[in-house]
Amino acid sequence: MHARILNFVHGRSVPAAQGRYVDKFDPRTGQKAAEVACSSPAEVHQAAASCAAAFEAWRELRPTERGRHLVELARVIRRHGGSLGHIESRETGKPGREMGSLIDLVAQFFEYYGGLAGAMDGELVDVGAAYHSYVRREPFGVVGVILPWNAPLHQAARAIAPALAAGNTVLAKPSEHTPGSLVELARLAVDEAGLPPGVLNVVLGEGPDIGPAMVESPHLRKISFTGSVRAGQALGRIAADRILPLTLELGGKSANIVFDDADLQAAAAGSARAFTWNSGQWCAAGTRLLVQRCIHDDFVARLVESVRQVRVGPEFDATAGPITTRQQYEKILGYFDMAARAGLKPAIGGHLPREERLQDGWFIEPTIYTGVSNDMPLACEEIFGPVLCVIPFEDEADAVRIANDSPFGLAAGIWSRDVGRVHRVAAKLEAGRIVVNEYGGGFVQNPCGGYKQSGYGREQGLDALAHYTQPKSVIIRL
Ligand code: NAD
Repeated sequence: MHARILNFVHGRSVPAAQGRYVDKFDPRTGQKAAEVACSSPAEVHQAAASCAAAFEAWRELRPTERGRHLVELARVIRRHGGSLGHIESRETGKPGREMGSLIDLVAQFFEYYGGLAGAMDGELVDVGAAYHSYVRREPFGVVGVILPWNAPLHQAARAIAPALAAGNTVLAKPSEHTPGSLVELARLAVDEAGLPPGVLNVVLGEGPDIGPAMVESPHLRKISFTGSVRAGQALGRIAADRILPLTLELGGKSANIVFDDADLQAAAAGSARAFTWNSGQWCAAGTRLLVQRCIHDDFVARLVESVRQVRVGPEFDATAGPITTRQQYEKILGYFDMAARAGLKPAIGGHLPREERLQDGWFIEPTIYTGVSNDMPLACEEIFGPVLCVIPFEDEADAVRIANDSPFGLAAGIWSRDVGRVHRVAAKLEAGRIVVNEYGGGFVQNPCGGYKQSGYGREQGLDALAHYTQPKSVIIRL
């Protein structure tokens, strides 16, 4: 008998009413690990109704009081960081040693937006002496938050914390592959941080069923979606019928650009991490490496050396764990076949791990392909795994042209010691986040989101608070 992961609604765990469950697997072994409730549309509507019932009291709390709840939740998250991290590591396959910093980041979102709750103000608008006019920023009501499997708590916290701080209540829907850590966080929020029941509910199930049910629920007033372009498009089409506002945080194929004046050793180490961290399963992964032609061969040799240091495995102190889902694992292997058919030879990797201990789980060796052109599927499509394409460029203009020649625009990296060049290139890149002389970064204070098919709207930073409120103008004739 496997453990069952249940909905969390109005402060209680609720089994799936129709008794439908999907299997969830352990990516380190490929074995079934748990069963996840599949909510019916009626259950989604009930959960949304509970959020709607909690809304008036939550929005009418003094903002500093709402903030106090969020800061208390951050404390509870830190106190239970060990167990939350354990659940998330077990479900996603992330190496255990990374969970401490991840939990710290999750807590920071609740601290940051908890502090800001009391600082949100409106605006006085001068329209002449005959009027008194001002703008209030008001919450939407119930916000739906739909989440992917690659970083469940991080993605959840960065959407839920600003939505709650702004006075909305939240109906969250984690991925069916990794639901456990968010269900536990919602339970802790009510049982230990004192969040009123209904302010944060969690419903479980498969996206193509739950997404439409959320959109059709009359209680929902906005949805924040983080996931693939394909699912974002499907959601966007049905949300258009209800004119339901969306924030879409979608995929990426981010360019990481190395100029000949960079600190090449640091760039090699950073570029290796850019595509191997979380086994490449992160939206902003630097998976198109653009290298100035005059340093190409030297740089690739350094990069291969850095990638050799990556320890793939199920262990606590591995540097890269397995791929989280079987479907994703098979998709990545499909790209190896595609590369072989295109005559590409990997500089490293390109096959399954050979060690006996890695045969059961969904492990993949970090893989680098050189000689890739920017129009190959390998360079155009998001693979969402530890697979890197290296593309040479001639000069600054060429680098910008290749980097921007992509349907995506989530993030980009620049490695250079020339400060003028860094600013020029950063200004020209079509991407929502540019990181220079390291890769990754991004703090809770930095707005995060995409250009082009990587989405619209922003999570994180002050922009997220704006996205979870709507302005109302009040104009009084004196
Ligand atoms: P996915 O789109 O398959 O699923 C994401 C969520 O949407 C899941 O909860 C899923 O159940 C649900 N879903 C699936 N089909 C749906 C539909 N038709 N309507 C409504 N909901 C639906 O994505 P995934 O495989 O879980 O995650 C990987 C993707 O997420 C990658 O493309 C990655 O780039 C993206 N991502 C983006 C960001 C960002 O900040 N831009 C962050 C993390 C992940």
